[in-house]
Amino acid sequence: MNIGIVKEPTDNRVAIVPPSLPKLAKLGVNFLIEEGAGEKSMYSDADYSEGAKVVDRKTLLGESDVIISISPLPSSEWQEGKTLISQFQPYNEPEVIDQLKEKGVHAFSLDMIPRTTLAQAMDVLSSMASIAGYKAVLEAAQYLPRYFPMMITAAGSVKPSKVLVLGAGVAGLQAIATARRLGAMVEAFDTRAAAKEEVQSLGARFIEVEGAKDDTAAGGYAVEQSEDFIKRQRAEVQKRAMNSDIIITTAQVRGRKGPLLVPGSTVEAMKKGSVIVDLAASTGGNCELTQNDQVVNHNGVTIIGNSNLSALMPQDASFLYSNNLVNFLNLIIVDGAVNMDLENEIIKGSLITA
Ligand code: NAD
Repeated sequence: MNIGIVKEPTDNRVAIVPPSLPKLAKLGVNFLIEEGAGEKSMYSDADYSEGAKVVDRKTLLGESDVIISISPLPSSEWQEGKTLISQFQPYNEPEVIDQLKEKGVHAFSLDMIPRTTLAQAMDVLSSMASIAGYKAVLEAAQYLPRYFPMMITAAGSVKPSKVLVLGAGVAGLQAIATARRLGAMVEAFDTRAAAKEEVQSLGARFIEVEGAKDDTAAGGYAVEQSEDFIKRQRAEVQKRAMNSDIIITTAQVRGRKGPLLVPGSTVEAMKKGSVIVDLAASTGGNCELTQNDQVVNHNGVTIIGNSNLSALMPQDASFLYSNNLVNFLNLIIVDGAVNMDLENEIIKGSLITA
């Protein structure tokens, strides 16, 4: 069986890095890699040549039984009978499942792996969200016309920056940790009750808004809140935003638009020079003035809309993504063939078309 790894057309990452190939040797399959696939993650074709055959895209698509990519291949490249492993986001685009079925393609969607302890080592959403949270703080620091830490110098003292993090999931917690390491004062908010202790353990203050809906049955994900709750939440955010230098928003509700937590009026109340980094930009944004994949300036406030910040740190992002895939491939490849065992919770969750 041949497994092919394509070059991502618009992403700096690559799904499998050369150091992973020896860990996959015992699977008894052959690997093909598209020319130049690892270049932006600092791996040359020669680095892959020991464990994989370097080929052009057409050969790869034709000869591979399983094709791995970070972003889904365009449907024009789907071929009947092949198995695709990617992130199809069926919770945002449910029609993709019927489209794949129609073409007779088997598909595993890594973003559908359940968020369980057993699946943690394969969880690409967590690996990438953690990088995004870290990078969000560095991006903010880049635009902020101020220091993060308190500075006491002969020329005068500088107060530490204040950071407000909205949504304390994987990305939010990493943003809190990074901002604290840089010396900022951090406050954070999340609707999930479990987030409070995690926020506090990182040395940040947890903001409480009463009356959030119970999310215990949502598999670890948040649920959509009532309009009344969101209204009270916005009022609380507005109060905090006026004193914040940076807001990092990561609030997502799976399969829905991101909740609007920072309306234009809040941005207008913020100090000039403040920075907002909106990681929910691709699902509509948590800030009303966010433009996806753009940096805008509104009355002196910089708003960075980017939901794919992990791609800006391609070397480690690819390394971690690849480690997740090694664990996943070790589960789904048995005796040199794809194992579609629906008794297995991880396979059942991620196999969107069998
Ligand atoms: P996510 O990207 O879906 O959402 C980000 C955060 O936004 C979440 O913490 C969510 O609660 C929060 N949010 C949603 N609506 C909000 C609102 N109105 N205001 C403020 N915050 C709001 O989340 P994620 O980072 O993917 O994590 C989802 C869950 O999965 C978390 O509970 C996390 O702990 C859990 N998880 C478990 C594992 C595991 O056990 N293997 C691995 C990773 C994540």
